[in-house]
Amino acid sequence: MPLLYHWRDVNYRSDLGGGIAWHLNQKSKRLHAIDPGESLWAFTRDRENRYVLAAELVVRAKTFNAPGYAYGPYRVWADPVRSRFFCVDGQRAIEPVIRQLSIRPAAVTLGQAFQGPGAVRLITQADHAMLAAASLELALEPRALLPDESALEHALVAASRDHLHVLLPSGPLTTRWERLTRGFDRSRALVDQLRGLYAGRCQVCEWSPKATYGAELCEGHHWLSRGGADDLGNLVLLCPNHHRAVHGCDAVLDFEGGRPVFDFGGGNREVVRLDRHRLAG
Ligand SMILES: [Zn+2]
Ligand SMILES: [Zn+2]
Repeated sequence: MPLLYHWRDVNYRSDLGGGIAWHLNQKSKRLHAIDPGESLWAFTRDRENRYVLAAELVVRAKTFNAPGYAYGPYRVWADPVRSRFFCVDGQRAIEPVIRQLSIRPAAVTLGQAFQGPGAVRLITQADHAMLAAASLELALEPRALLPDESALEHALVAASRDHLHVLLPSGPLTTRWERLTRGFDRSRALVDQLRGLYAGRCQVCEWSPKATYGAELCEGHHWLSRGGADDLGNLVLLCPNHHRAVHGCDAVLDFEGGRPVFDFGGGNREVVRLDRHRLAG
């Protein structure tokens, strides 16, 4: 079923500045009521406290987070091609539309009808059609840009400020750029740390280019481009083949059953066999 999510304005603005994750985590199981291909609509408040549409995430996968993950066990991943983040400034208020939906929010202040586990609500296909109609003319939010992730990782590890400027132009993306550049040296140190921990082996297939060629060819894959934290839990060491496959298939990480598994789509799932450091994704 499609879903409607209340994205608290404080969180929305902070996410937008630091890098939109293109996925959503929740403590409520209701998040997984959605199926791939269906839409999760998100609304928030603009600076004038009017409720406006923030995003339509078209779901491509739903997964479980690592045990103890701070933002809850349930996650859905947005399809980067079909999903849209809307510019909220100057947008027509969405409250009259939401009031007409089948969930009939009764609270005087709309957000109060979406507190705690109620932040995510099931809506009908007719509700979805009403939101889709209301979103037709909306401008897109430039700060939700998803850069070329392989290139971004390369720029970070190679400490290439110029390249990072091309991938994340300043202006609306300044906060994100500054946050990433602060981590230049750190990113390299973290990858080196993983190479030491796994003796240069790929965490998925255990192949060691170091043993074969005497060269450290395994690469750190991380989720910084989608707003993740710059720490070890957000990094996995992969051989060049697996790294290309993860980006090429936009693989998602799933902790169903407790162990990290990359899901490449089409039923292709590969366990992260070496998982000596705590992955959070
Ligand atoms: Zn591998
Ligand atoms: Zn990567």
